[in-house]
Amino acid sequence: DASDPKLKAIDVSQLHITKTTTPKALTPHNELVFGRTFTDHMLSLEWTAGEGWLAPRITPYQNLSLDPATCVLHYAFEAFEGMKAYKDKSGQVRLFRPDKNMARLNRSSARIALPTFDGAKFIELLKEFCRVEERFIPSARGYSLYIRPNIIGTQRTLGVGPPGSALLYVIASPVGPYYPTGFKAISLEATTYAVRAWPGGVGASKLGANYAPCVVPQMQAAQRGFHQNLWLFEDVDPATGEKEDFVTEVGTMNLFACMVDKATGQKELVTAPLDGTILEGVVRDSILALARERLVPEGWKVSERRFTMREVAAAAAEGRLLEVFGSGTAAVVAPVRSIGWKGELIGCGLPEDREVGEVTKRMKDWIEGIQYGEEEHEWSVKV
Ligand code: PMP
Repeated sequence: DASDPKLKAIDVSQLHITKTTTPKALTPHNELVFGRTFTDHMLSLEWTAGEGWLAPRITPYQNLSLDPATCVLHYAFEAFEGMKAYKDKSGQVRLFRPDKNMARLNRSSARIALPTFDGAKFIELLKEFCRVEERFIPSARGYSLYIRPNIIGTQRTLGVGPPGSALLYVIASPVGPYYPTGFKAISLEATTYAVRAWPGGVGASKLGANYAPCVVPQMQAAQRGFHQNLWLFEDVDPATGEKEDFVTEVGTMNLFACMVDKATGQKELVTAPLDGTILEGVVRDSILALARERLVPEGWKVSERRFTMREVAAAAAEGRLLEVFGSGTAAVVAPVRSIGWKGELIGCGLPEDREVGEVTKRMKDWIEGIQYGEEEHEWSVKV
């Protein structure tokens, strides 16, 4: 554990690199499918409860060999991250707010009794890994290298308890633009028969165990013609004493709505608060910071607060719903055209001939500008 002085911390100077003797051919840009092709190497660090973090290794990408009784395979001792490396016009590789991903992985890992680690040291290793895999990072705008850190409990035991050993490893997949032919607004179906997370649960942790149960509701939404499902949380609204559907997040995105306040006429950018039931998205945090810096001076209000489907539906009906979008590492932002909710189809403010709203577009441009080094910003970390 990173906080135990008796155990070894990550030692970057001990990194051992074994390069592949069979480099892969690069996939043509237009054939890249998310998460299907991987780079030549992987970064691995083993941990044991007795010693702490052992020497890091970069090796050729290879299968893992696990005993059938390994605890991750039975009790889901697994947490992960999703982040990207970008190549700017001058060929410089950059990470986007990697400290945020490290902090989140440490929180997720600690929640399931897996070890924590020094995030700054791990970023040094990630940088080295990116240098080794540099040829896989396309330089065209919109392209990037998706990086997947993963930590698993590796102890061979059927006993339910804290894993005595763990493996932290990183693989990477070159990816193309989420919207290769320009924005395409998506439709969401609000799921009312299942919940993703609840107060006191683990919805704020990036655990594999949070994702598998989301696939069936997602498939059912897709069967009814929706792109993705929207997760709600039904709860009594203290303001009215009535049960309401509170908006939380999408399968792999946080959700934002732009609404005009009925009483004051002020424009408001709103997203659900970090109450433990939603993932603390890196893009979510970035959007909030940019909105406070750049939209508030234009008269906007920026809110992290609970909001309900009833509120969204009323705003839509009264022409006060300006735009809705999802946010996440994969797409940066995803414009939403409509939300299906209890048999109603709520239009989210986009005219039929438009695929993206103004705030959504500006956020994408601002964030991509920083990611690709067009705007120098402390969020962009050079490799
Ligand atoms: N919510 C969930 C459930 C997610 O899996 C993700 C993707 N990590 C997000 C939100 C967006 O997070 P980020 O902005 O860090 O990609």
